[in-house]
Amino acid sequence: MSDTSYIFVTGGVTSSLGKGILASSLAKLLQSRGYTVTIQKLDPYINVDPGTLNPYEHGECFVTEDGAETDLDLGHYERFLNEPTSQANNVTTGGIYQSVINKERRGDYLGKTVQIIPHITDEIKRRIKILGTKGKYDIVITEIGGTVGDIESLPYIESVRQLKRELGTRSLVIHLTLVPYLAATGELKTKPTQHSVKLLLEAGIQPDILVLRTEHEIDFSIREKVALFCNVDSEAVIQSINVSTIYEVPLKMRDEKLDTIVLKKLGFDSNQELDMKAWNDFLSRLNNPKSSVTIGLIGKYVELHDAYKSIAEALVHAGAANECIVNIKWIHSETIEKDNVSKILADVDGIIVAPGFGHRGMNGKITAAKFARENNVPYLGICLGMQVAVIEFARNVLNLTGADSTEMNPKTPFPVIDLMEHQKGITNYGGTMRLGSYECRLIENGSHSFYSYNKLTIFERHRHRYEFNDNYINQFIEAGMEPVGVNPETNLVEIIEIPQHKWFVGVQFHPEYQSTVLNPHPLFIDFIKTTLPEIQNG
Ligand code: GLN
Repeated sequence: MSDTSYIFVTGGVTSSLGKGILASSLAKLLQSRGYTVTIQKLDPYINVDPGTLNPYEHGECFVTEDGAETDLDLGHYERFLNEPTSQANNVTTGGIYQSVINKERRGDYLGKTVQIIPHITDEIKRRIKILGTKGKYDIVITEIGGTVGDIESLPYIESVRQLKRELGTRSLVIHLTLVPYLAATGELKTKPTQHSVKLLLEAGIQPDILVLRTEHEIDFSIREKVALFCNVDSEAVIQSINVSTIYEVPLKMRDEKLDTIVLKKLGFDSNQELDMKAWNDFLSRLNNPKSSVTIGLIGKYVELHDAYKSIAEALVHAGAANECIVNIKWIHSETIEKDNVSKILADVDGIIVAPGFGHRGMNGKITAAKFARENNVPYLGICLGMQVAVIEFARNVLNLTGADSTEMNPKTPFPVIDLMEHQKGITNYGGTMRLGSYECRLIENGSHSFYSYNKLTIFERHRHRYEFNDNYINQFIEAGMEPVGVNPETNLVEIIEIPQHKWFVGVQFHPEYQSTVLNPHPLFIDFIKTTLPEIQNG
């Protein structure tokens, strides 16, 4: 094994304290001191991956370059570190059991009883160490999903105990807990933290660092108290106070010296200079906007903003690049009808129709695309949002009555969006879509896409089954909707535009997955730029 060090991030008291942001922020600081770092998420559910989960369950499904359908925290890892993750960065209990059971069927454990300890824990440890064995990383940070004490995450916690024993000083555990504030007495309470550390201790793990999530400053005496009761160095008890943007968290963690404490404990040089210039430049643009725009984000899961996490973050990045605040107006597609669309969309500067599956909310999305097309409102259609624009154009411009995607209506007379021949026999749902990064060749014809990317070959990530049906291409071109990006191998249409329109772009891929703090996505930048007040009026 290489000399990679391993940091485990566990959570206590409640879920949703921001383990993913804490892990990403620490990783950012370590990276900014010159160390190579990656982050991994262990998810305790039995699904093999989140690809088949409804977004209401765990929010967006993030897709990696290599086509893995993963937890949305991987999106944070990429946005903070500006580096792609892969299949190996997300492990699920379902995936662990699947490989152990496959090995059992192959006869790899012949004669043995297959048990949680050692077989499941060995597989978990193997998955954790895989990222280190390539010798690429100085430090691997592993975030354990769920909350300490959950039955589901016990095998993960046990694996961390075993790894700490094996790795010694090359490992440490950071435990993130909540210190609630009781308004009635005006006090911060540490008992829940003490109890959650006790749960960890019962599992054989002494945390090395405690990060206390809080709404109010935690003073020295409280830190001392927590340190004493939880058996942790008092300098290693730090606070994570609420901030207005997740992108401030690395700076807060730096102020708390989280990175230097970690480096010292792992025996690394903690005096390497911290270079956060590009990050600070981004923050100063984000915090000093010169204008503001409102984007209508139309989808059917808008009650849960996490369902569109990467799109929302890509808008933050693109806003900062344009020195403007992007307000998102979350619009449920089922609320849009022909007679209220102009009212609902009256106050938006641009429209995004979001990705999605199934026919619920389709009519509202099609009505919104028509409104954008007819009123010259900037439109970005992402995946299903591109397909919606194609269906709308077919019905209302090409007069192909009943045109549809065969996903929504298998019997449509005009299947302008359809399955490719080779996909028609596939019956399984899990992992059977067009997934991951594909090449797209742009056509140098003055399109917004070519202008944005400023190159001819791009790579973007996909997650869909259905495609633009090539049989209709000439009709679309003649009527003014053009393919401006195609897959060079298969000729599949990846981007459509309406050249007569101010800015109308539909992309079959998901540009939002590639937008990071240091590399905001060019299409999002150009889309937001088009909606700026000076451009609108100019
Ligand atoms: N449901 C569409 C398809 O499978 C679009 C998927 C998406 O928007 N990610 O092709």
